[in-house]
Amino acid sequence: MILQKRNLKIVCIVILLLAILTACQNQGATETSTLSSENVPSATPPQEATQTALPTPTPTEVLPLDGQESHYKLDLTVDYYNHFVSVEEEINYTNKSEDVLNDLVLVVSPMLFQDSFFLKTLTYGNDQVISVFYWEGHRLHIPLEAPLEPSSQVDIKISFSLVVPWREGTMGYTGKQLNLANWYPFIPPYKTGEGWQVHDMWLVNSFIVGEHLVYEAADFEVNLQFTDRRENMKIAASAAGIEQDGIIHYTLDLARGFVFSISDVYVISQIEQNGVTILSYAFPEHQAAGEAAANVAADAIAFYGDIYSPYSRPVFSVIEADFLHGMEFDGMTLLSRGFYEFYDGTPLTNLTIITAHETSHQWFFSLVGNDQAIEPWLDEALATYSEALFYEHYYPDSLQWWWDNRVYGYNPSGYVDSSIYFPDGYVPYRDSVYLRGAMFMQALRDTVGDEAFFAFIKDYVKTNAYENASRQDFFAALARHSDVDITPILKEYFQNP
Ligand SMILES: [Zn+2]
Repeated sequence: MILQKRNLKIVCIVILLLAILTACQNQGATETSTLSSENVPSATPPQEATQTALPTPTPTEVLPLDGQESHYKLDLTVDYYNHFVSVEEEINYTNKSEDVLNDLVLVVSPMLFQDSFFLKTLTYGNDQVISVFYWEGHRLHIPLEAPLEPSSQVDIKISFSLVVPWREGTMGYTGKQLNLANWYPFIPPYKTGEGWQVHDMWLVNSFIVGEHLVYEAADFEVNLQFTDRRENMKIAASAAGIEQDGIIHYTLDLARGFVFSISDVYVISQIEQNGVTILSYAFPEHQAAGEAAANVAADAIAFYGDIYSPYSRPVFSVIEADFLHGMEFDGMTLLSRGFYEFYDGTPLTNLTIITAHETSHQWFFSLVGNDQAIEPWLDEALATYSEALFYEHYYPDSLQWWWDNRVYGYNPSGYVDSSIYFPDGYVPYRDSVYLRGAMFMQALRDTVGDEAFFAFIKDYVKTNAYENASRQDFFAALARHSDVDITPILKEYFQNP
C-alpha cells in the first residue's frame, strides 16, 4: 500500500522549539546564554542570564508515580501444545495512597474461567507463608499481618499454574494461537479515602460488555521459556524480548500489563519508522492484510505521536486474533480475524478503522489510564474520535464516509458518560460511549476551535501520563485552554452535565 506523505512542517517547528527549551533546561549557564543570545535575542529577559549564573539548585526531577510504581517479576514456562503455563510471580508494592492499608487485594482474572487458575504457594517476600486469605470472585484478599503505612512496601510471591481455557478470547487458546492477557494476579489502583478500584465483569446473554479492569502503570520483568518445540513458536508480546540460553527476557516500564500472543503459524511483517518498530503478526492466509495492518499502525503511531505525544516505546505490535473483536493492550493490540478476512485493499474497511482505533489506545488506555468500567468514555470516545482524526489527516476525502459508516449509520443515542453496565448489552453501550462519544468530541472541537482543542488534548495527555484520569482531569485540561461555555454540549451528551 502506498502511503501519503505527512505534513511535518508544524511538527518540526514544535520539535525545534522543544529541543531549544530542553537544551535550556538541561544545560549549564554558558550554553543557555549562548542559545538565548543566538536564537531569541529580543525575547530573553536580561535577568535570566543573572539567574542562571546563581548556584544551580539540585534538580528535582519528578518521576511518574513518584517512582513508587509496582514491580512485577514473572517467570513463566509455557507448554504450548498442552495449553499449560507454570508461573513464579513476585510483586513489589508500595502504598501510594494516604491511607493505612490493612489488606491487599489482587485481581486474578483467570478465576473468571472454570478450572483455569491453580494457586500453589502464596508467601511474603521473605518466604513466610500467607496462611490467611480469601476469595471473592476474581478478587484475592490478603489481610496484612502488619498495616501498610503510606509509602511503605510489601513483597508478595505467588506460585501458580494456568490451564488455559479453550475459547476464542484474549485469555484462551484455539488451533491457531494461545493468548495470555490478564494472566497473572495484579494489584489494582487504590484511591485514598475510596479504596481499591475493582469492578465486576459485565455479561449480557453470555457476551462480555466493555472492559471492567482498572490498572496502575507498573514495571515488568518477564522471563519466558517453553517446555518444548521452542523452534515452532512465534511470540508477540507487549515488549521486544532478548533470548539467552532458551529463556526470553522482557522488560517494560510503566505499563498497564504484560500480554503474550503465541502461535506456531504467524507470518510476521515489520516496519521501522522514526525509531519505532511496528511488528504485525497474521495467519498465513492473511499475509497481505497483515502487511496492511502494519502500515496503518505505523501511520497511526506517527500521526498520534504528533497530535498527542511521541510514542514512548521502541516496539508496537498488531496481531490477528482468532476471535471477532479488537482489544487493546500496552505495546500491542489484538485485531479480529474478520478485519483481515474482509480487507479489500482500500482504506474503507474495518482493518483501517479499527487498527487506527486500537493504536490510539496506546495514548488513551496505556499512557493515560482511566476507570474503564465506570468512565469508559475517557478511553473509548477518544479512541473512536482518533479514527476520525486519522481519516481527516490521511484520507480526507473519506472522512465523511467514516462518519456515515461508523457513526451516523447507526443513528446512535445515549449518554457519553455511561458506565459499561448497560442492561441491554453491547449495542447501546457502543452507541452511547463510542459513537456519541465521537460526536461529543467533534462538538467540543467545533465549539472551542482547533487551536484550543488540540492544545487541550496534548495538555490532557501530558498532565495525566502514567496516571488514571477522571472526567475532572479531562475538563480541567480543557479549561486551561478555553473559557468557552460548553454547557449546551454537556447537556446534550452527558447524563451528569
Ligand atoms: Zn477501544
